[in-house]
Amino acid sequence: MAKSPTDELLELLSDSREYAKYLAELGVENVTQTVERPAADEPSVVAPIARSAVVGHAQPSAFFASPPAEQVETTITTRATSLFGDLAAPQPSLAPSRETLAEIWRDIGDCTRCGLCEGRTQVVNSHGNPKARLMFVGEAPGADEDAQGKPFVGRAGQLLTKIIEAIGLKREEGLIGNVNRCRPPGNRQPTLEEAAICRPFLFREISAVQPDVIVVLGNTALRNLLETREGITRVRGKFQDFRGIKVMPTFHPAYLLRDPSKKRETWEDLKKVRDYLDSLPPRT
Ligand code: URA
Repeated sequence: MAKSPTDELLELLSDSREYAKYLAELGVENVTQTVERPAADEPSVVAPIARSAVVGHAQPSAFFASPPAEQVETTITTRATSLFGDLAAPQPSLAPSRETLAEIWRDIGDCTRCGLCEGRTQVVNSHGNPKARLMFVGEAPGADEDAQGKPFVGRAGQLLTKIIEAIGLKREEGLIGNVNRCRPPGNRQPTLEEAAICRPFLFREISAVQPDVIVVLGNTALRNLLETREGITRVRGKFQDFRGIKVMPTFHPAYLLRDPSKKRETWEDLKKVRDYLDSLPPRT
């Protein structure tokens, strides 16, 4: 049934009130009107560098180039397009594994599988709730994360915490991780090889935790989880599928620090995530 103009107005008011609260939580004090213009694709979080080959370290195939066979179900189910399904290219779904996060981290150990080990202080594993319904995936640790051994604890991390809280969740309820677990020198983007060597551990974590939604933050996370060359600007805000788990791509908080006008889109994306989570029955 079509909404009455009054209902539409009330909805708009409630939406604006909620958005104002979100902006206040993010510390925005002044809001000026901006003119929408076509956005250039989001640059990577840090400037890309020439992709060097990883010399003297094992190549991806040696380290779980694909998930362990027992983790992949062979049945491919066609998923109906629904309110929360903007696209549904079917993929084999990721069967829950019985591994614990601690076991995966033990396996990672004091990792020397790629050259990033040479410049890091410590491995930065994912952090948070092992039963999380919501997971966030970024690119790689920066200086603060390298020093503290936890993902997203620097400025971008503090903004991520505010974004999570603005949709009514607590940071500790979710699980937060990265494609790469060691800080790349100078915060450069991880190379394709470095990402390919490290991401199987992320896939194993996803398989162990089985979140309902994964929010991928920025291009590196998007491209490594969904194996797409699409940019975040084109796909953000549209639910995608990672082996049966819903994925919401959105801007990386470091990008939002550089271009705060994009916070509105991020909020819209996260609201979709919250609405989807709210639509699910409680887990037993
Ligand atoms: N940026 C990331 O992508 N990950 C972190 O953990 C911190 C900053």
